Amino acid sequence: MQWIDPAAEVGYLVAAALFIFGLKKLSSPRTAVFGNQLGALGMFLAVVVTLAKIGADDGILGGWLIVCGVLLGSLIGAIMARRVQMTGMPELVALFNGFGGGGSALVALSELFGSEPAASRLGANVFILAAGASAVIGWVTLTGSVVAMLKLNGTIRGNPSFPGLNLVKAGLLLAAAVLTWLLIRSGGEGVALIAGISLVAAILGVIFVVPIGGADMPVVISFLNSLSGVAAATTGFVVDNNALIISGALVGAAGLILTGIMCKAMNRTFTEVMFKAYGQAGDGGDGSGEKRTARGYEAEEAALAFDGARNVIIVPGYGMAVSQSQHVVRELAEELERRGSNVRFAIHPVAGRMPGHMNVLLAEANVPYEQLVELDDINPSFGECDVCLVVGANDTINPAAKTDPGGPLGGMPVLDVEKARTVIIVKRSLSPGYAGVDNDLFYRPTTMMLFGDGKAKLTELLAAVKDL
Ligand code: NDP
Repeated sequence: MQWIDPAAEVGYLVAAALFIFGLKKLSSPRTAVFGNQLGALGMFLAVVVTLAKIGADDGILGGWLIVCGVLLGSLIGAIMARRVQMTGMPELVALFNGFGGGGSALVALSELFGSEPAASRLGANVFILAAGASAVIGWVTLTGSVVAMLKLNGTIRGNPSFPGLNLVKAGLLLAAAVLTWLLIRSGGEGVALIAGISLVAAILGVIFVVPIGGADMPVVISFLNSLSGVAAATTGFVVDNNALIISGALVGAAGLILTGIMCKAMNRTFTEVMFKAYGQAGDGGDGSGEKRTARGYEAEEAALAFDGARNVIIVPGYGMAVSQSQHVVRELAEELERRGSNVRFAIHPVAGRMPGHMNVLLAEANVPYEQLVELDDINPSFGECDVCLVVGANDTINPAAKTDPGGPLGGMPVLDVEKARTVIIVKRSLSPGYAGVDNDLFYRPTTMMLFGDGKAKLTELLAAVKDL
């Protein structure tokens, strides 16, 4: 069927346009849902076109086998997406990144085995280079993402490292490059070479991510996301599929931009995050070594602080996601506004466990976008803030980022909540946040600790504020 190729190219072009418009719409919370739908429509079109093309070309896999794969994959994906808790989303996203990378590597390698490199439009050498690059990047993405997932859910604790680790990473990278070059020279025939490339890349992914911790995980997750796109794009060259090249390049570029934003948010360079093991967690306290006590308050006592408060800033953090208290937070904000307070939400770029985590949760609870203020814009306002209510945030408000430059949080910009007249912190205990650094703020005289689950405590606080 001669018409299928040009028709498929038009289909891919439309799909690519949908991806680009979808991405553009994602840049504003108001249009993000529509953007997501456009992207999904583009992907649906790309899949349908590819199936039609394979059916017409009589490719290596039978159409039914592909349809079964699509159905099975969709079923597993739908079950996983329905069953995952909101707090498990970051791990699921990390895993999906990894699957993207692993999938790209498998497709590229199966193409290398199943076709004749010399017959490729790219020429044999470029074809094998693209397949090798896809394998290296894809396996690094898969194993790195699995480690990231295990770090996020707490299965892997600490950030194990050893002197000379950077040399090992450089050695493995070099080995992957040499093996790929040997593969090109062998004409793509060497099964042992391909196994070697896969093994080296898999180890590289693990040792790249394992030592990274403290508060630097957001950078790694964004970078792995970018790598999954690059792997897809290189695989697109191998299978000669324009939709895959374009969508992979879009994911790669978007992930790289996000990586840059996250580095800026952490006040670190990319190489510092990747190659410098930041300090292990210290006590983060005042350095005196004295035993300090933090005072716990009842919700009724804390509610009194809101009486007559003109400026209120709410700081959401990971604990809000765990306790699913975003709806009660919104109700409390509405109640305070009714009572004459000016309420704003301070959004730290790495709060929670995935980029944009707090924005997603607050949007779900219908908090108006205008009330969400980014770190740089809200920090000057803490000096005039009467009450700052912290809901399950810890690292993102920890003054140790300023006072302990060599520590895991050292240099990370944090929200200046200590400047508020009264700080109410809702969390279950005095335990540290993700970076494992104790928080001096809990012990300050202007701080009221409200110990307990976020949702339960905020419900009590809301009732107490209503009774004022
Ligand atoms: P943190 O992880 O620093 O602290 C969260 C706090 O929430 C904990 O101290 C915990 O204290 C409390 N908490 C947990 N469960 C509940 C609950 N049910 N009710 C009330 N409180 C609860 O959160 P932040 O948002 O301040 O900082 C995010 C951290 O995660 C940063 O270090 C960031 O770098 C890192 N990170 C961010 C990613 C991103 O992309 N945004 C990705 C990976 C890591 P307690 O146990 O006492 O209740």
